[in-house]
Amino acid sequence: MNIVAEAINSRLCADLPDEIARTLDAMFPNRDANIALHEPQFNNRAETIVLECLRSTYVSSVGEYVRQFETELAAACGVKHAIAMVNGTAALEVALNVVGVEPDSEVLLPSLTFVATANAVSHLGAVPHFVDVEDQSLGIDSDALVRHLQKIGRQTVEGFFNKETGRRISAIVPVHVFGHPAAMDDLNAIANTFGLPVIEDAAEALGSQYKQKHCGSLGHAAAFSFNGNKILTTGGGGAVVTNDGKIADLARHLSSTAKLVHPWEFEHDSVGYNYRMPNLNAALGISQLMDLPTRIASKRTLAAAYECAFSGQDGLTVLKEPSHAISNYWLNAIILDSAAVGCRDAVLEELHKIGFMARPIWKPMHQQLIYADAPRAKLPVTENLAGRIINLPSSPQLKDLLK
Ligand SMILES: *Cc1c(COP(=O)(O)O)cnc(C)c1O
Repeated sequence: MNIVAEAINSRLCADLPDEIARTLDAMFPNRDANIALHEPQFNNRAETIVLECLRSTYVSSVGEYVRQFETELAAACGVKHAIAMVNGTAALEVALNVVGVEPDSEVLLPSLTFVATANAVSHLGAVPHFVDVEDQSLGIDSDALVRHLQKIGRQTVEGFFNKETGRRISAIVPVHVFGHPAAMDDLNAIANTFGLPVIEDAAEALGSQYKQKHCGSLGHAAAFSFNGNKILTTGGGGAVVTNDGKIADLARHLSSTAKLVHPWEFEHDSVGYNYRMPNLNAALGISQLMDLPTRIASKRTLAAAYECAFSGQDGLTVLKEPSHAISNYWLNAIILDSAAVGCRDAVLEELHKIGFMARPIWKPMHQQLIYADAPRAKLPVTENLAGRIINLPSSPQLKDLLK
């Protein structure tokens, strides 16, 4: 950093943390405890349906609640098939497996994501190949992706190959970061050009829409997560969703030990997984799905309140849903100005001091030791943004604490 930039930085960092803290404090004047980043919420139906499930003794997979949860989930996000899984990482792994991601192939995904996206690829013996994002949605930058693929790729009759590593490129995984839909039309067009299947990592984006279509319905298949911190929870859980009947059948088959249907024989036609969601978790999920529309409405009200509270604040912008999208605003985020890049930890410290459990965006995957050797594109936007993004408390119930 040069001397002028450093001076601006230290002046900003002297004031900004305190200004942000005062803004949040004024938004929630009646709070009486620490405010978590994202807390689960349970309605009256939750206890009764979980108890019903217990008393039925059908607590494991696969039972009636799993089937009901899958039907209602598919309807909620406008797809034909949903297959409930033990968690979102497992759902991603199964979806990638089903569309043909084989060991030693490469899967394109953003470096700016939660580690689970890359881990699902690695669990298949495949290799994550990191690409850059754009600053509107924080999703994959389609222009940069095309340039990169034209530079490193070679199309053959056997598929599209990375000529620098010799490996086949077997899929692309757009991530809808914080619930904001990635630019799916452009990404689907690129995938089509290069013959790649598209698996959406929609773990954070249940209920978000892109051009009036639900996240999860925009590629060949998608994965959701129902972990405790997501917009809906089943304790732990996830799902593969798709409009393709063949993908759905294979995902269901593979995730339940690849057992052939027979009244008593144990015959398995591949090395399958035990990844199906237990009935007990699905029961909780049914009670959660009832609340999805009101929860999204609350989160959008909260997002609007953050935007309003920080309008006119120097040194940062509030991340807004991209045009053509209606976001579930799973996590709200502020982006510090480039000049304020050095202030991030001071802001986090100040917010924690007054009881707001804010946190930074993930450390990018290519900067993690476990993925330091993975192939990657140039990542200027990822590297620029990673140190500047802070997530603010985003539980839907915070709506009722607003001033
Ligand atoms: C939560 C999350 C996952 C993984 O889901 P789990 O249910 O925790 O396994 C994957 N990708 C993203 C972007 C997530 O936020």
